[in-house]
Amino acid sequence: MTQTKVKPNYVDLKTLYDRLRKFGFNQDFILSNGLPDWWCEEYEASSDAVVTAAAYLSRRFNLDLPSLLNPELNPIFDAESKALFKTVKNQDANDENVKAELAVAQNLALRVAELIAYTYKCQYQSIVGMTAKEIRAAILDKYTSVTLEALLAFCNEYGIPIGHFAEFPTKVKKFFGMVTQSKGHPVIVVSLCDLSPSRLSFIIAHELGHIALGHLEDGLIISEQNLGMLDLLDDDESAANEFAAELILGQPDRVYYFPHYMTAEVLSESAMEKSRRDRVDAGSIAWNYGWYKTSHFPVARKAAGLIEKNSNAPQQINRYLSKSLDWDSLSNDYREYLALALGLDIVEIIEESWNCLPVS
Ligand SMILES: [Zn+2]
Repeated sequence: MTQTKVKPNYVDLKTLYDRLRKFGFNQDFILSNGLPDWWCEEYEASSDAVVTAAAYLSRRFNLDLPSLLNPELNPIFDAESKALFKTVKNQDANDENVKAELAVAQNLALRVAELIAYTYKCQYQSIVGMTAKEIRAAILDKYTSVTLEALLAFCNEYGIPIGHFAEFPTKVKKFFGMVTQSKGHPVIVVSLCDLSPSRLSFIIAHELGHIALGHLEDGLIISEQNLGMLDLLDDDESAANEFAAELILGQPDRVYYFPHYMTAEVLSESAMEKSRRDRVDAGSIAWNYGWYKTSHFPVARKAAGLIEKNSNAPQQINRYLSKSLDWDSLSNDYREYLALALGLDIVEIIEESWNCLPVS
């Protein structure tokens, strides 16, 4: 009697890795971000390694599992979210290639936003209809100006989680920020890698504008490639920019005028003086100098750096967020992945949750 060996209708592990290259996921990125920390070469040799790897990758990277494993299908992202992305209109946003390139970063960020919403402990109180002026007044009751710290506290009070996530493959097209609705919460994800708190504040204020102005229709995901005032923006984007400017600077069209040639040292001194006078964050005033003229940007950046010495805004955002997350509500793998995605120390998180257990 002859036996026919039935080959499973799966791709092998090498083919799985090769197929993911089209999204810019090379093997290093897959090993460091897509698979659990116990993954090793020895396990890769086992017969179920490919199915296990595909399951991890689909969960962490928002990929459609059957399309990863079936050799007759092309790997795709989870189809459900595909139609919901709305990207800032600019010269090339209608280009299908740009949309496809952005899809990788957007899908990765969307999964992180969903995990944040799932594990976020605070109740959402709607801010739809609140004006920038009202939010600014509420913040200025407690803070001297609308700083990153003040925005994080305001959003936390209203149950709007904010995370910083930028663990993308190096070559994919990235975006500055994103806002979406998940598990009954608007969730803001900042992706721009910048240590300056005031630079990231503007992105948060802009996303807050989308929420307050009611732009987040059911499940819509808005992501920004850039927030330049000079770009051709659609109405919603211009309105969100004006909202952000009013919230941070006090007026939607406020521009700080400085002499044409400024050194970073003089600009930082002058920004601090104006900050005290107007109750506007000094870093934001310094950035305002580079806002309309790109050649001023390096000086504005240096001045903001002098004002915000030793800041690490991404870390500040994620450490603040971590305090409001119920890490124990996640599976081990999602907990490991979310900590990795937010640049937080998983050992510290586990120790903290142990410390929170009631003493018997
Ligand atoms: Zn926007």
